[in-house]
Amino acid sequence: MSSNIKMTEAPPGLEGQGFFATTLDSVVGLARKNSIWPLPFATSCCGIEFMATMASHYDLARFGSERLSFTPRQADLLMVMGTIAKKMGPVLRQVYEQMAEPKWVIAVGACASSGGIFDTYSVLQGIDRIIPVDVYVPGCPPRPEQIIDGVLRIQDLVAKESVRRRHSEEYKKLLQEYHVK
Ligand code: SF4
Repeated sequence: MSSNIKMTEAPPGLEGQGFFATTLDSVVGLARKNSIWPLPFATSCCGIEFMATMASHYDLARFGSERLSFTPRQADLLMVMGTIAKKMGPVLRQVYEQMAEPKWVIAVGACASSGGIFDTYSVLQGIDRIIPVDVYVPGCPPRPEQIIDGVLRIQDLVAKESVRRRHSEEYKKLLQEYHVK
């Protein structure tokens, strides 16, 4: 019986008859990369593009991100999409702090990345003022292809991240700079 199921590529390693050896980092990275659970934090129009990204035509599920999480404690990837008012800042920060490690963040669109066209007193000029960001997706709004590209960039980061990174002094210093608990 033929099957359309494709196997993911194995990480680099040593292969011989009956065995395959690689590093723990590579195996953990491979598993994490292909099972990212995103938390969509959508406040305005960029969120609509995300709906298209999840729908059947673009189908983000193809990259292992079928399961969206609307609870921070069961999410790996915070996707911030839309204008973030300064009043909303503490809420976004609390959601970030409630996510368990390891966690990653994408700023989707101009508003989340830099405040976009809203250079006003009430709008946060980029979410990286309050939480660390791993990938920025440009555009107003970005097309679903760009959002998918952002997720692929996150997958690259996830696959290559050392399992020790989250315990490193460098990472602790980064969180301290943001006063994240
Ligand atoms: S970047 Fe543009 S499309 Fe996205 S939320 Fe801001 S104004 Fe809307």
